[in-house]
Amino acid sequence: MQDRPQTPAQSDIAAVMEGLRSRAASAGVSEKTFQAANRDLEPDREVVARYTQQPEFEKTPGQYIAQLASNARAAEGRRKLADAVELFDAIEADYGVPRVVLAAIWGIESNFGAQMGESRVIRSLATLAAIKDRRAEFWTDQLLAALDIAEQERFAPNDLTGSWAGAMGHTQFMPRTYLAHAVDFDRDGQRDIWTSIADALASAAALLAHSGWIADVDWGVEAHLLASFDLTRTDPWRAAPLSEWRVRGIEPVGSDRRIADDLKLRLILPEGVSAPAFLVSSNFDMILTYNRAQSYALAVGHLSDRISGRPPLSRAWRPPEDALDRAGRVALQEYLSALGWDTGGVDGIIGPKTRSAIRAFQLRERIVGDGYATTDVLNRARQAASNLKSD
Ligand code: CA
Repeated sequence: MQDRPQTPAQSDIAAVMEGLRSRAASAGVSEKTFQAANRDLEPDREVVARYTQQPEFEKTPGQYIAQLASNARAAEGRRKLADAVELFDAIEADYGVPRVVLAAIWGIESNFGAQMGESRVIRSLATLAAIKDRRAEFWTDQLLAALDIAEQERFAPNDLTGSWAGAMGHTQFMPRTYLAHAVDFDRDGQRDIWTSIADALASAAALLAHSGWIADVDWGVEAHLLASFDLTRTDPWRAAPLSEWRVRGIEPVGSDRRIADDLKLRLILPEGVSAPAFLVSSNFDMILTYNRAQSYALAVGHLSDRISGRPPLSRAWRPPEDALDRAGRVALQEYLSALGWDTGGVDGIIGPKTRSAIRAFQLRERIVGDGYATTDVLNRARQAASNLKSD
């Protein structure tokens, strides 16, 4: 474990701002705006506490998706769509991103504007930059972008509010994302993602459209694995058209999907074979530009389905006790590494390399090769690694 960062001192904050002065000037930030941003700028203890918090227990993908894509949120999403039909018509016409996806993002990011965060973004970002860890340049760049926003859009710097990590407004844009993608959809001369729902939702649509969203294609679909689907013979992670998945023994759930025959789809098994499975299109990857976590993108996709009136998932998630906690995931990566597989580091994060390593180990053990880290897989890997030592 690395040492927990201390709350930076006032002088650290001042040094961050001073170090940014010429870059800000080059970016067009006036001395007046810079001075206003510097006024009453103190380290924020709460931000440091949140930044260094390590959750004891993390949610499983199933728990996370069920919480974010709840029935109540889907119902609220439908009400929001009904309240603003013309606005959603106009955004869809301009950007080709479905209203149910925008409503899902809005609901998950800020609970439809009810929880946008009340921290002063410049103060939060200056505090994070002053911690001077490996992400310092990221925070410094976001801080510079926030100053740029205040200048360009004529906001008082202290009026830029957001989450403790600097995510702003209804759609929780980071400052750099705002500068690149936010739009003034209601044409009042200001890109206001805090009080203009039109600007906020159109900005989210613009981000997805700029990233490469394909109109008239669904994000993905829940999929049934038939008995004929054989995980020992096919590489589950390779993208293939629906026709090919069908031949391999996978059927989409429901028949009303907008998925063209030649569209390549990836299979996602968030909790392995005995839990909900999904085939996802490239539009799923556009949701990942918002947030890199696979469970996040699945929650947005599924909530958008629920808002559109589609039914809940057809299968139950696994019991949470099947999943490994962080210590278990780290141990599994250590054992798999000892056994000669590349897990892409030992960090407790199940990325593509760890998933492939788990699958290879499962196939060697002659159990289902779904790449899902369970206590059974951990026990087998521990045993295999100890056999290796005693040989
Ligand atoms: Ca506006």
